Amino acid sequence: MPAYPAFFVIMDNPRFTLVRDAFRKQALAIDTPAEAPSKYFGELVFGREKMRRYLDPATFSALEKCIDNGEPLDLDTADMVAAGMKQWALEHGVTHVTHWFQPLTDTTAEKHDSLLEYDGKGGVIESFSGSALVQQEPDASSFPSGGLRATFEARGYTAWDPASPVFIQDDTLCIPTVFVSYNGEALDYKTPLIKSLKAVSDAALPICRLFDGRVSKVINYLGWEQEYFLVDEDLYSARPDLMLTGRTLMGHQSSKSQQLDDHYFGAIPSRVTAFMKDLETEAYRLGIPLKTRHNEVAPNQFEMAPIYGEANLSNDQNQQVINLMHRIARKHGFVVLLHEKPFNGINGSGKHCNWSLGTDTGIPLLAPGKDAAGNLQFLVFFVNVLMAVQRHNGLLKATIASATNAHRLGANEAPPAIISAFLGRTMTGVLRRILETPSDAPVVIAGKKGTKVGALGIPDIFVDNTDRNRTSPFAFTGNRFEFRAVGSSANCAGAITTLNSAVAEQLKDFMLSVNGELSKGKPRNEALIDSLKPLIAKVIDTVCYDGNGYTEQWKADAARRGLDTETCVPEMFRQFTTPESVAMFTSTGVFSSRELEARNEVKWDKYVKKVQIEARVIGRMATNHIIPAALEYKRQLLEGLSLEKSVFGDGACGNTETGIVKDISFLVDELRSKVDALEASREKADVIEGDYEKALAYHSIAESLDGIRGPIDRLEEITDNALWPLPKYREILFIS
Ligand code: ADP
Ligand code: MG
Repeated sequence: MPAYPAFFVIMDNPRFTLVRDAFRKQALAIDTPAEAPSKYFGELVFGREKMRRYLDPATFSALEKCIDNGEPLDLDTADMVAAGMKQWALEHGVTHVTHWFQPLTDTTAEKHDSLLEYDGKGGVIESFSGSALVQQEPDASSFPSGGLRATFEARGYTAWDPASPVFIQDDTLCIPTVFVSYNGEALDYKTPLIKSLKAVSDAALPICRLFDGRVSKVINYLGWEQEYFLVDEDLYSARPDLMLTGRTLMGHQSSKSQQLDDHYFGAIPSRVTAFMKDLETEAYRLGIPLKTRHNEVAPNQFEMAPIYGEANLSNDQNQQVINLMHRIARKHGFVVLLHEKPFNGINGSGKHCNWSLGTDTGIPLLAPGKDAAGNLQFLVFFVNVLMAVQRHNGLLKATIASATNAHRLGANEAPPAIISAFLGRTMTGVLRRILETPSDAPVVIAGKKGTKVGALGIPDIFVDNTDRNRTSPFAFTGNRFEFRAVGSSANCAGAITTLNSAVAEQLKDFMLSVNGELSKGKPRNEALIDSLKPLIAKVIDTVCYDGNGYTEQWKADAARRGLDTETCVPEMFRQFTTPESVAMFTSTGVFSSRELEARNEVKWDKYVKKVQIEARVIGRMATNHIIPAALEYKRQLLEGLSLEKSVFGDGACGNTETGIVKDISFLVDELRSKVDALEASREKADVIEGDYEKALAYHSIAESLDGIRGPIDRLEEITDNALWPLPKYREILFIS
């Protein structure tokens, strides 16, 4: 017997079966709280009801003004708020506090400080001051900053974002914060998101006020759909590629994968249900309103979505859920994979960001209205969003681009690497009708029963009417746009910030045009429609596309329409610093050009490191796992042949064995030379100085990894199953 690696695992391995059985039993025995979720929903969040209970009325009112209107909080009030929070936290067994922030890495960051302080009388007390609540200076020099923090002033500050409620995780009070440099430049995802919320509200407000003078704020809503894979922890641990890169760099397709379409919406395996229940219970305690859960298309792939909410809070909740998922999965013997494409040949994971706007008077701005004026307001926002997407389609693609999402985009089951918008037949018809009708005549469209529903009427059936086009990266779905191109591992804030800023810029330009028309003495509706028409004419045959986004024809058509068709991720990032993007981000106050440049450095650097890790891992696995296993099988075959020859003499058969031996030799040689070539190109790339240039070199390396995988997967196909040192797709992909 050859010596197997310590982690050698195959399906029939008794050790593995035992582990699985233990988790199966646990799944059946899982306790869910007897109480209805509404009873414990939000119990670990310091929300308004707790504020009212734990703060005196004056402090509560000051804090409410700070949350709702962005009014500053003085230090005395902060001290009072902190005292109330401390009391509540101690009642929940809290011993530590942390500023919880979202740096430009793939995860959230936290540094826990104990509440313990000397009391000056020889003892200790629990202490938490207003200044500790409001601001901290984490030792942050090792977070990515793209040179915004020169080492001599390597300070990063975290500052409380009162709009996101404080919550408890285990024994720790977590304070959601922004993370900025000494000069106030954003080092995180949250800061620009908050700026973009203000930008889009400020830009939308004058338009809303044309319809209703009572509107004082426009709110951005986000409802994310999180897709993910679950794999058994043991199998994960036996795959260095999964552990170190989050995806399988090799692995022959399972004979059965998703071709029978039997996983989507199928019965959820009981072990997975147990995990989901546990996750939901914890999420509800944190006030996260998880609503749907189901199997996704690929085996072992699942999805969940909450009830949508205010974008900043909803995004925090997505980050919290991600943390919870990783933690709770381990309790159930699973590991969560958030990589956009963990397995070749089966669907990848996205994070659809459902995006909409609404007024503080409760009117949704991306849903048809109740009357003609409501419909006109809807059309104004609808068309301006499309125009913003048209103007910045390349940039929007850049916001969702990453080394990991690159494997999903453009593949045959995910949004293509071209940003277009799906409207559906009804809305396309409405837009065309507007173009054909004189602006001072009412636009009349048949309603549900063929009756006329008045100027700018939209059929009542409309909301149910939007067809589902899964190939579109940005689809209108009745009361919102669904940005589907966002990757499952992404922080939604990246995409939402850009979308908000682009829409804000477009709405400001639109308002200028409307004011121009109004100053000519035109009535409101006519002024609005006259300003809309050129936009409709522009978007209808460019960014609006209802066809199949997966076809080759679309790629050619999109290029003709002037849409960005770039497929190289490092190249896409340059969209952030084009004159149009810089003008858009600076005019809306969301990013300075220095911040944009710095963030691009971070993006290129992250891209390089991710591909670099993959290249190292595949090289080492080829050398240390695959080639030895293949050679061992070859040795056994040769031994058998030689034995055969010694018994039967030269005329012995053994054609099968010699055939396999030759195939192995050929594939091992091919693999070896490809790994050598990879090492050589990595050495060359590593000495390149510029971030962008280096990322381009690593882009070619990324493209070459599939070529290395080729001989490995063919070796897997012909090598003795018992000798193969890695769990195979068929073993990893079917939870039972
Ligand atoms: P589907 O898979 O059919 O797109 P899901 O129910 O899985 O739908 O998810 C839809 C998501 O969109 C949910 O998070 C939901 O709360 C959110 N959503 C619904 N309406 C809006 C809206 N007006 N604005 C933002 N998000 C919304
Ligand atoms: Mg869904």
